[in-house]
Order: sequence, then C-alpha cells, then structure tokens
Amino acid sequence: MVQCPSCARRCEPRLTCPECGAPLGVELDLFAALGLPRKLVLDPRELEGRYHEAGRRIHPDRFASAPPAARQASLGSTALLTRAYRTLRDPVSRGRYWLELNGEKLADNNKGVPVELAELVFEVQEQLGELRGARNGSAAALGATVRARRAELEELVARTQEGLERNFARWDEGAEQRQELVRELKSVLSTIAYLRTLARDVDRALESAPAN
Ligand SMILES: [Zn+2]
Repeated sequence: MVQCPSCARRCEPRLTCPECGAPLGVELDLFAALGLPRKLVLDPRELEGRYHEAGRRIHPDRFASAPPAARQASLGSTALLTRAYRTLRDPVSRGRYWLELNGEKLADNNKGVPVELAELVFEVQEQLGELRGARNGSAAALGATVRARRAELEELVARTQEGLERNFARWDEGAEQRQELVRELKSVLSTIAYLRTLARDVDRALESAPAN
C-alpha cells in the first residue's frame, strides 16, 4: 500500500489516486503505468490515447502551486508515464523490456552476426566497400545497386517484425513453452537490431558516395 501525497488516502500502487485523482509518484512496471494488463499485443492508438489522457491529468502545470510532495509526485509520475509510452510503443523496445521483466537479457544472446544473416551481411559489406572506392564513373551504377539493397533490407526488417508480432501473440495466449519463446524472442530482436545497424551503414555509405 502507498499513501496519496495529496489526500493521504492509502491505496494499491498505481499511477493516480482512486480518491482524488492526483498522481501518486510511485514506481510501477511500464504496463501498469499506462493502466494496461501485461500483454504484448498492443493497439498503438489505444496506447497513445491512454498516454495523452493520463498525461493531461497528472501534468506538472496542474500541480505548480500544490505542496512539494504532490508536485514531486507529479514530476515522478509524468517521467514514468513518458518512459512507459516510449518503451511500449515500439515493438522492438517493448520486446526488450519484456525480456527484462522475465529476468532475461538480449546481450547474452547477441554476440556476432546471426547465422541466417551472415551471407547477406557479407555481400552488403562488399558492395559498400566497392561503393566507397568507386570513381565518379562507376559510382552511379553501384549507388543504384546499393539503394536496391537498402530497400531489400527495409522489407526484411518488416518481415522480421511480423515474426516478432507472432511471438508476442503466443506469449499472450499463455503458451507453455516459455524457454522456447524466450529463445525465439531473443533471436528475432537480435536479427532486427543487426538489420537496423546494417541499414545505417548502407545509409552512411550512400551519403558519402561520390555524386552522380
Ligand atoms: Zn488522493
């Protein structure tokens, strides 16, 4: 139980006081901060709606002349709410947070290139090397090849994210193979992380390539 800094009522930890509606300023898991059950499949519009609605109710401007404890609670709860929204709206950071909640970490499983990407990564790096060393004459053609690669990567990220959504749905169904779901989630997340890094490398190489 916690005590509301505004009306002194005691209640279960939550974002706002059930009695007076003031922010409680207590730490919560990021789903609870948004008043959501711990489910991975989220409707982005609902998430945004909850964020804005709660954000208005607990906004520090509304507590500017309140006693220090209530003002502090407003600042703390607003920071928590913002962190919850930013973490949960992106499926990749939501997945990473889920691993954390389950006592797992991506880093343990994130060393080196994922096996299924090894060939692609090798090819792309080779093309980027050629593009960097290209003279004006051949740069245009190489640039076009690399830009096509960039589009391919984009599509691959989208497809991998669909795999992530399927993994989320299985968690929500209460699938029993927890170990398998953790392993799959880690693998999908590290694939996406790697593809994003590769896409950034491609962007950089394209930016610094000789002009056509
Ligand atoms: Zn209260």
